[in-house]
Amino acid sequence: MAVSLDWNNLGFKYRDTAGHVECVWKDGAWGPLQFVAEPWMRMHIAAACLHYGQECFEGLKVFRRKDGTAAAFRPLDNAARMQRTAIRTCMPPVPTELFLDALKLVVSKNADYIPPYGTGGSLYVRPLLIGTGAQIGVAPADSYTFIMLVTPAGAYYKGGLKPVRAVILDDYDRAAPLGMGDVKVGGNYAASIFAHEKAKSQGFPVELYLDAKSHTYVEEFATSNFLGIKKDGSYVTTNSRSVLPSVTNLTLRQICEDEGRKTEVRPVPYSELPEFAEVAACGTAVVVTPVWQIVRGDDVLTLGDPEKPGPVVSALFEKVQGIQYGELPDTHGWCYAIEA
Ligand SMILES: *Cc1c(COP(=O)(O)O)cnc(C)c1O
Repeated sequence: MAVSLDWNNLGFKYRDTAGHVECVWKDGAWGPLQFVAEPWMRMHIAAACLHYGQECFEGLKVFRRKDGTAAAFRPLDNAARMQRTAIRTCMPPVPTELFLDALKLVVSKNADYIPPYGTGGSLYVRPLLIGTGAQIGVAPADSYTFIMLVTPAGAYYKGGLKPVRAVILDDYDRAAPLGMGDVKVGGNYAASIFAHEKAKSQGFPVELYLDAKSHTYVEEFATSNFLGIKKDGSYVTTNSRSVLPSVTNLTLRQICEDEGRKTEVRPVPYSELPEFAEVAACGTAVVVTPVWQIVRGDDVLTLGDPEKPGPVVSALFEKVQGIQYGELPDTHGWCYAIEA
C-alpha cells in the first residue's frame, strides 16, 4: 500500500501515519516495545504529566537519501539529551538501546511516510516520555510511558532560505537562571507560548530571549539556539545554564571547525549584537533561520538583507542538508542508517 501525499506541500503539521511505538516503565523496569496503530492512548485522569507537567520530549529527523537508503541524523545525541532531561525531571531515563530500537521500529513501519529524496522533506520523529502514574500529591509518578511518533515534514524553505525579523520582549522570560532551560521539557514551551503569540501578532515569527536575571546577555530564541558570524568570520554561540544544548548547533560548530573557521561558545552581551555580520536561529526543524533584524522596543538593529541570507549561514545550511541527504561525505558518522 503506497501512501499518496502531496510531498512538495507538506509543511510542518501533524499527520496520522501507520502508527507509533509505546513502552511502559513500571515496578522499576521497562516493558516490551509495542507498535500501536491508532493515534490515541487511554490515560489515568490523575496522570502526573497532566497535572504537574512531568514530561519531556525530543525531536529528530529521518531522511530518504540520494542512494535510496533511510538514515536518522544524530539519534544518539537525542537519546543522551533525553536521558539528561529525564534525570532532571525525576523520570526513568530511556536506555540508548531502547531509544534506538523504538526508532528502528517506528521508522520501518512508516517507511511509506518518509518523503522521497528530492522533495526536501523528512520524517520528523518525536520521542516523548510522560509520567502516567496517578499522582495527586506532588511527587514523581510510579509509572511512565515512552512514546515515539512520526509525521512527514515538508521542506521548510522552498526556493532558498528566508530571513526573518526577531523581537526581544523584555516583559517575559522563558527559563529561570537555575531552572529547566537546559533540558527539553514541555513546560519551557508553556512558559513561552504567550510571548510567542504576542510576537507573532506584531509581525515577528521568532523571539529572542535575554538572560532572565539581568536581561543583559543573549540566550536563545524560543525554540532554537542563537548563532552569529562575527565580521572576522568567527562563529559565536551562547552558553548559559538556561540554554538548551542544540544538536544542530553542535553540528554547525563542528562543520566550522572542520573548515578551519574559528568558533566561540561564550556569553554574548546584547550590546555586542551590532558587531555581527550574520545572525541566525538553529534547530532540527529548519536547520537555520537567518535573522536580518532584531527589534527591542525602540532599538532596531538591522544585521542583514531581508531578501538575501548571509553567505556563511547559507553555506552552512547547504552543508548540513548535503550530509543529511547523503550527497556529501559523512565524516563524523552522524547519519544512522535504518532499514526502511
Ligand atoms: C529543541 C530545542 C532547540 C534545538 O535543538 P536541536 O537539537 O538542534 O533540535 C533549541 N532550543 C530549544 C529551547 C529547544 O527546545
